[in-house]
Amino acid sequence: MPHVKILEEVCKGCGLCCDGICPVNILILSPGRINSNGYHPAEVTDNSKCIGCGYCFKVCPEPAIEIYK
Ligand code: SF4
Ligand code: SF4
Repeated sequence: MPHVKILEEVCKGCGLCCDGICPVNILILSPGRINSNGYHPAEVTDNSKCIGCGYCFKVCPEPAIEIYK
């Protein structure tokens, strides 16, 4: 099953992946989590819906997203 992994400690919390890019709308900036650099990292709300399209991976300016197909 396709799924996505956010590397929380690499994420800079820019929100680009959370801004309507995901066709199944499962990425948000975590309201409650803060990484060691002080950023709210992206979070996956329901990995079972991921279709492995890779759009989030392409838009991310950091190596913070891994896609598994
Ligand atoms: S790979 Fe596609 S469906 Fe999965 S989280 Fe990223 S943008 Fe969404
Ligand atoms: S695009 Fe990358 S750096 Fe920006 S919030 Fe998403 S995972 Fe984090």
